[in-house]
Amino acid sequence: MSLLKKLDTANYNVIVISPRNYFLFTPLLPSCTTGNIEHRSIMEPVRQILRHKRAAVKFYEAEATKIDYERKVIKISDNSDIKGTINETEVPYDFLVIGVGAENATFGIPGVREHSCFLKEIKDAQAIRTKIMDCVETAAFKDQDSAEIDRLLHMVVVGGGPTGVEFAGELRDFFDEDIKKLIPEISPRFKVTLIEALPTVLPMFSKQLIDYTESTFKEEHIEIKTKTMVKKVTDKTVEAQVTNPDGSKSTITIPYGLLVWATGNAVRPLIKDLMSQIPAQKDSRRGLAVNEYLVVQGARDIWAVGDCAVAGYAPTAQVAAQEGNFLARLFNNMAKTEQLESRITELSSNLNLKPGNVTEITAEIESLEKQLRRIKDVKPFNYSHQGSLAYIGSEKAVADIAWLNGNVASGGKLTYLFWRSAYLSMCFSSKSNRPCVV
Ligand code: NAD
Repeated sequence: MSLLKKLDTANYNVIVISPRNYFLFTPLLPSCTTGNIEHRSIMEPVRQILRHKRAAVKFYEAEATKIDYERKVIKISDNSDIKGTINETEVPYDFLVIGVGAENATFGIPGVREHSCFLKEIKDAQAIRTKIMDCVETAAFKDQDSAEIDRLLHMVVVGGGPTGVEFAGELRDFFDEDIKKLIPEISPRFKVTLIEALPTVLPMFSKQLIDYTESTFKEEHIEIKTKTMVKKVTDKTVEAQVTNPDGSKSTITIPYGLLVWATGNAVRPLIKDLMSQIPAQKDSRRGLAVNEYLVVQGARDIWAVGDCAVAGYAPTAQVAAQEGNFLARLFNNMAKTEQLESRITELSSNLNLKPGNVTEITAEIESLEKQLRRIKDVKPFNYSHQGSLAYIGSEKAVADIAWLNGNVASGGKLTYLFWRSAYLSMCFSSKSNRPCVV
């Protein structure tokens, strides 16, 4: 979307292919699970964004199922509920930009896909909300078994990255602010556990903020189990291997009512298939390896942005948005280059036809050549890190903000206000079709 917003569509025949006909502001998705933020406020219809473009852009609600790199063709399929007689076709391209993101990593752990909830799409957030309420109501069912109440009210989050941490914080808030008032009799038994395989949560934040998060979670009664790797999931339990302080390993079984799986990203099959067609991609593991201009290595006329691209940066919304802006500038420059070059050719032939205007024409050619040199001097993509932010519950947030040449670490209620205003302003700017502030 950041590419589309800045791209001068008058220069290209632009076609957008996406199985979702809306843009989703994912940083606020955890807040949707508990109804803290209404899901419609973080969605923006693609056609609404395209409506404001200078020249028409085609949109197909479809999934790209295969990129045929040799034939320069994309196979697309309508995977929505309502299908017409034609629901598969091909779209040829001259230039291709891939920004399909990533899917949820499960590492092939048995039972994860069948029994846990993910947190990537609106439907995931809605499913989580429904399940939380179902667990609570089932726990409050007449004569419910005591051990069963404890299981149903145990919300387990696997993955101590920002997604898992933010969700655990939102969950605790939801319980304290809403459910506790509605069904006070079950409140002492509600429990949130965050499981992380590494020794700490939020490894991308500074040590001070990790400690702050851990102590805040303690106050909020969110149990953090670090050095605990989930190995198997059943419909009611999680089996995990714990590394004890003496280095020995033991296995624990944790009963749960709701299980949310947030262990990061995996490469989508579409991208794996494309990588298998390009010999230069054979050593890339986490997605399409791109060069400093975001061109897919070993391919012609294909660029990749966001979580499906490996450009040496973390798979975050902030990186993706900057990459999209960069590509828009690159494409706008490419079009301008073509316009300037053809004007220079035209003027050069006029030089011979209209010898009387030589000085005037030469001056114009020189000025155009100067512009051309400037435009052609495109600097490689350079990511500017503005900082990391995460909500940790109880109206507190942590932030590592890039400041001058250093970093400012802060955590607490003021940081929460900063988090909220920063995210809301980003969301607002994306809705009003102004450039996204990231
Ligand atoms: P992540 O990759 O950041 O974290 C996943 C965590 O799960 C890791 O710490 C890993 O050790 C753990 N894990 C993996 N397998 C496990 C297992 N079997 N048992 C227990 N733990 C296991 O994933 P994420 O939080 O979904 O984030 C994905 C990307 O999106 C990251 O780059 C992140 O920075 C970004 N993101 C940023 C924000 C923010 O800035 N506020 C919010 C959400 C996501």
